[in-house]
Amino acid sequence: MLLGPLIRLLFSKTGLIIVALFLGFSLITGNNPLTFLGQLFTGGESQTEVSTPYKGTPKDNELAAFSATILANTEDVWNGILDNYREPTLVLFTGSVSSACGSASSATGPFYCPGDEKLYLDLSFFEDMEKKLNAPGDFAQAYVIAHEVGHHIQNLMGITEKVQNLRGQMSKTEYNTYSVKLELQADFLAGVWAHHSQQMSHMMETGDLEEALNAAFAIGDDRLQKQSSGRVVPDSFTHGTSEQRIRWFKKGFDTGDMAQGDTFNANPL
Ligand SMILES: [Zn+2]
Repeated sequence: MLLGPLIRLLFSKTGLIIVALFLGFSLITGNNPLTFLGQLFTGGESQTEVSTPYKGTPKDNELAAFSATILANTEDVWNGILDNYREPTLVLFTGSVSSACGSASSATGPFYCPGDEKLYLDLSFFEDMEKKLNAPGDFAQAYVIAHEVGHHIQNLMGITEKVQNLRGQMSKTEYNTYSVKLELQADFLAGVWAHHSQQMSHMMETGDLEEALNAAFAIGDDRLQKQSSGRVVPDSFTHGTSEQRIRWFKKGFDTGDMAQGDTFNANPL
């Protein structure tokens, strides 16, 4: 189980005291305790916001603490790979949220907004992954966050803007192929993160990689579409097939090499 010991500490008696202290601190200072949880694990400035009104269940709070930990871990990794890495903010919400990219509901799923450099995550998505998509496990959840951080990396590198500029210059079908390349590159970057995270802290345990790949498979567009409509419409794919997603994640995980992730010139994709 990924980061099992940390999470166990967090929810052990000692951990609860730490959380209680942070909650107390946040009541006094008006600061969000999760921000401090992130700092607890990195000593850095990991930012996690909770949108109001946030009606988290105990299970949500557990997932929130876990998400903050994963975000902090992605920061450790990307700070080591990229010069002047600008850390994104994680926003946890329930129901609906407004971002610089417009308002979104839980149905949107996790997303990254380049306009405010924030990752938006409705924790109920994790429960859906477990119950509706049959993708349980904490590494699968880490993969989802790492994928959104991958979009942040693409934004920092100017790739997102280049792709967005193509919109309107071509047919929707043609644009979708670029959209797929962008998504598969985010999967690749999630794999690069997992590679370096593993080298730094050996936190992955047996079964974690399979969990992540299972998640990639479960949220491949072909599978999501089959579940929702019973048939697959390849032209409207915007994330790539499950096979493609697993392959690009694995390429990043196996190599850990940013230079291997040019999905835009890969043939076959
Ligand atoms: Zn994506």
